[in-house]
Parts: sequence; structure tokens; C-alpha cells
Amino acid sequence: MLVITLNIKSKFSVFKSLRLRIFVVLILFGIVPVSLYCIISSKLFFSNAISQRVSELQTHAGIISNLVVNSNFFANDDLTELNTELSQVADVYKGRILIIDKRLKIVKDTYALENGKTIISKEIIETFNGVNNIYINDEGQYVEITVPITDSTTKETVGVIFMSFSTENIFQLYEIRVRENIVFVIIFLILLICLALVFVNRIGRPFKNLSASIKHIALGDVDTDFAYNGYSELEGIAESYTVMVDELQQTELSRQEFVSNVSHELKTPITSMKVLAESLTMQDDVPVELYKEFMVDICDEIERVNKIINDLLTVVKTDKNVSTAIITSVNINEFIEKILKTLRPIAAKRNIELVYESFRPITAEVDEVKLGMAINNLIENAIKYNVDDGWVRVSLNADHKYFYIKVADSGVGIPEELQEKIFERFFRVDKARSRETGGTGLGLAITRNAILLHRGAIKVYSKQGEGSLFTVRIPLNFQT
Ligand code: ADP
Repeated sequence: MLVITLNIKSKFSVFKSLRLRIFVVLILFGIVPVSLYCIISSKLFFSNAISQRVSELQTHAGIISNLVVNSNFFANDDLTELNTELSQVADVYKGRILIIDKRLKIVKDTYALENGKTIISKEIIETFNGVNNIYINDEGQYVEITVPITDSTTKETVGVIFMSFSTENIFQLYEIRVRENIVFVIIFLILLICLALVFVNRIGRPFKNLSASIKHIALGDVDTDFAYNGYSELEGIAESYTVMVDELQQTELSRQEFVSNVSHELKTPITSMKVLAESLTMQDDVPVELYKEFMVDICDEIERVNKIINDLLTVVKTDKNVSTAIITSVNINEFIEKILKTLRPIAAKRNIELVYESFRPITAEVDEVKLGMAINNLIENAIKYNVDDGWVRVSLNADHKYFYIKVADSGVGIPEELQEKIFERFFRVDKARSRETGGTGLGLAITRNAILLHRGAIKVYSKQGEGSLFTVRIPLNFQT
């Protein structure tokens, strides 16, 4: 079943081809007007030739009419001039001419078949009443004309000239023309197909080149130049693709950097554990106290590895992935009080004053755990990177759309050129101090991820040696 579906799909995909579509459009746009032109011009040729024949015959009919009147034909039927004209016209145009008198009697028939007979026909009677009748046979085989013979002095219709002429020769000419046109259309179609094939092939070339370049890049040859000579639309696609490739490269670079940072961070405690363990195993009769001391150090290092791994897991969990967020309506005032409560003992150890200012009661839709980690990190940092007997001020405010948390401290501050970098994973201004305080360099990365997850923003203002201020803005209603 699947095979059949695929077969049908691949058959129909031919019709999706841009080249095929352009080809068909070119052929239609070329052949339709040319064919129409040929049909219309042949028809026009035929109708023009017929009307020309009719007008010639009408002229001759006029001459014959004059000759009839001037020669008093109906009184005397033996007039050479008129007879000559009649037989000449009948011969040249291959037809028959009848002259009918008032009593509807045929007084002259160039075929000499109906002389003396009476003719009763609608057209003849109408012509006596002043109507010039022209009848053209549908198949274009003959044309019939009736013309009144009018006495110039009395203005009376004294007779009717009836002409019946074959138009077969015109029809033959028309058929030759139609055949010529068909040959012309076929030659034109062949030429058009050749030109359209060349054109369509040329149109498709830039697409092929671009697709080849993309394939090269996809296979890992990222230095491939895009071949987009030709269309500005393709230039746009190639540019977007380049941007995408650049981003992929950036992602790959930061992934590699992240992995090497992780290994580096884990290596340090593992190396020191190894050194500690080896120094114990290489010595004989090590005193129990030394064992204990080294074991405590090894435990500290294990604790550090554990912390790094936990923080790494948190970074991954908070990484902008909205689907992992558990959103509830939270009383933000109480939420901050809770965080401060856990941090007060650490602040107290170094006699750091922890002040909290709340301007209004605020309830917001947040992921309490993730946002809790973010705010906790900010306040903990404000304590960690502070001076003894310093202060930390936390304030909370809101407007109709957002709530704002500010964490200010009287600490060591951050050099201006490094202020952007502090949110990067594993970045630490002072590695030694951070390590001393148990920092992994992942805290602010977690903080930023959690805030971005809430579609919020974080900013830092700091002066080295004077202190820092972190401001956080979060929407009151969670936006997916
Ligand atoms: P860490 O685990 O090292 O604290 P963070 O990601 O939380 O990692 O912070 C990154 C670095 O930014 C810290 O190592 C520190 O140098 C600097 N930093 C963060 N907060 C403050 C602050 N309030 N005052 C001074 N420096 C800070």
C-alpha cells in the first residue's frame, strides 16, 4: 500500500516541477496567440475575398442594369453590346445571369435554359420593391445577388438582374491558406519547444547550483561558496541559509566550549582527589589524623563535583524550555520573604545587613522553583561578593504589566568590560574567590535562563569596588 502511494506521489511530483510549469506556460503563451492569429487571418481572408467578389459583381450588375435601360432591352431583345457584357461577366466569374421583366418572366438566361419561363421567388419580388438581395451560401460554394433595373427617368423598377456565381476558387485559395497556416504553426511549435527547452534548462541551472552548494555544506564543507549567480530571490535564500549555517556553527562552537568547560571544571576536583588519595597510599604508617584530614578534603571535593553536576542539570532544565515550566499563581511578596529567610544566616555570618522593601502586594504567574533559584542566586551572590559589615537591599515593585525585583549590594563590584560575560556558563570574575565561596560559575547562567523562560529581562549596573545592582523584570501573566 505504502509503495503504491509513494509511486503515485512520485508520478504526480513531475507536475510540481517548476521547470515543467514554465515550459507549459511558454508553449501555451506562444502557440495560442499564433494559432488564433492564423485562424482569424484565414477567416478574414475568406470573408474579404467574398465581399470583394460581391462588390465586383454588384458593379457589373450596375453596368448591366444601365445597358438594359439604355438599350430599351425589354422592347428589343437583340442587343449585342449587352449580350457581350453578359456573356463576358458570366464567363469571367463562372456563373449564371438572369434578367427578369416586370411580369416575372425570364427574358435572358446566360445558360439559355429558362428563357421565357416565369420565376416566382421571394428575393425577386423583394427586389422589385427596392431591396438589393445578397445571399452567400454557408459552405462558401456560391453567391447569389439580385439587383433592380431602374428606369432613370420614371424611377420605376422595370426588371431584376439575378446573378448566381460560384465561389469555389475563393474557397480553394482559402483551403491552401489554411494548409499553409497549419504548416507554419507546426514549424513554429517545434522552434518554440526547442527554445523553451533551452530556456527552461537555463532557468533551472542556478537552482541546481544552489542545491549542490547546500549539499556540500550539509556534508560538512562549510567553506563552500553559494553559487547564486542569477536571481535575487535565490540570493535571499542563500543569505538566509548562510545565516542558518553561521548559527549552527556558533551552536556547535558553544557546545564544544561547554563540553570542554565541563570537563575542565570536573577535572580540578578529581585531580585533587587523586593527589590526596595517592599521597596517602604512597606513604607507609600514615597517622590517623592525616588520614582524617585528607578524607575531609576528599569529601569536600566530592561535594564540589556534586554541586557542579547539580548546577549543570539545572542549567539544562531551565534552558528556555517553556514546556518544562510549572506555572502557578504565586504571592511574590511571600515568595521573596521565604528566600531571604534561608539566606539571612549566611549574611549574618559576615555581619551583612539584609534589607527588604516591598511596595505593594503582588501575585504573578510564575514557575516558583525556577524563579526561586534565579532570585536566590542573585541575593546569594550579593552576599558572597560583598564586604564584611556590608549591606544588601532587595526591593519589589510592580505596574499593571510587570513586577520588578532589584538586588543592590555594597560589594566588590564587577569591572565594566566583564559585566556582559558574567551570565555566561562557568564565567567567574575572580576564579579563586568564587571557588573559595563554593561558586561554580553557573549561578547567573541559571538565573538568566529562568528569567528568559518567564519572558523577562535582567540587567546589571556595577562599579568596581563600590557595589552592584541587578534589576529583574518579569511579566505578571506568564506568556507561552
Ligand atoms: P558563581 O558560582 O561563581 O557565583 P555566578 O554565575 O553566580 O557564578 O556569577 C558569575 C560571576 O559573576 C561570579 O564569579 C562573580 O565574579 C560575579 N558576580 C556575580 N554577582 C556578583 C555581585 N553581586 N557582585 C560582584 N560580582 C558578582
